[in-house]
Amino acid sequence: MEIKLKHVGYTYSLNSPLEFTALQDINLAFPTGKFTAVVGKTGSGKSTLIKLLNGLELPTTGEVTVGDQVITNRTKAKQLKQVRKNVGMVFQFPENQLFAETVLKDVMFGPLNFGKSENEAKELAEKWLAEVGIQASLFEQSPFELSGGQMRRVALAGVLACEPEVLVLDEPSAGLDPAGNQNLMQLLKKLQTERGMTIIMVTHSMENVAEFADQVLVMKNGKVIADETPREL
Ligand code: ATP
Ligand code: MG
Repeated sequence: MEIKLKHVGYTYSLNSPLEFTALQDINLAFPTGKFTAVVGKTGSGKSTLIKLLNGLELPTTGEVTVGDQVITNRTKAKQLKQVRKNVGMVFQFPENQLFAETVLKDVMFGPLNFGKSENEAKELAEKWLAEVGIQASLFEQSPFELSGGQMRRVALAGVLACEPEVLVLDEPSAGLDPAGNQNLMQLLKKLQTERGMTIIMVTHSMENVAEFADQVLVMKNGKVIADETPREL
């Protein structure tokens, strides 16, 4: 599933004294089945950009197209359920994404929300928790008693259990040791090659970019200043 942005701008606190334009006239595509890395300095607008990709924030100007659905500043929340199912997102601070009393219940929530039965949701949760490397002994524990790296993995399992077509990750390697990073990157590569998943990853790791990305977007001051293959950088 492809995502395209046409003349997209985003302004925080529009029409208030705190108004701040974080994105300006962004035009780009995240092609189906490709691995796109988004890089750029702190504050350049990376997290703002990706929050627009599943309708979590609506563009202030322009339009975001996800598959055949067009999202503008007039789009209503109830029109976004399918987009939220298709585009799975792991945030920069995934602890904000965890809420249930146990790890297993947390990961089951998404599939249940999207219409799976209790049994199906449990099966999906167990499968994806294993894929991200969370051992079964942690399933009944509170997600808030985990380490930062484990919380990130549980949040990722929760997103993957919804079987999205597009996976968006905001700095997923933060806090992972080198082995954890390799495991994560190999899993993403497998999702791309075996399931044709479109992967979009914000990262500060140029090693991950060089090894895994098909396309690299470089952001600066709310604009995309380069759109290249890693070899061209
Ligand atoms: P980092 O690498 O530090 O995560 P980033 O590239 O993800 O940075 P964003 O979080 O997208 O940057 O922020 C872009 C700009 O928008 C920054 O100047 C930031 O101060 C501003 N900004 C972010 N969130 C808000 C908000 N809720 N209200 C007002 N301004 C915001
Ligand atoms: Mg960010």
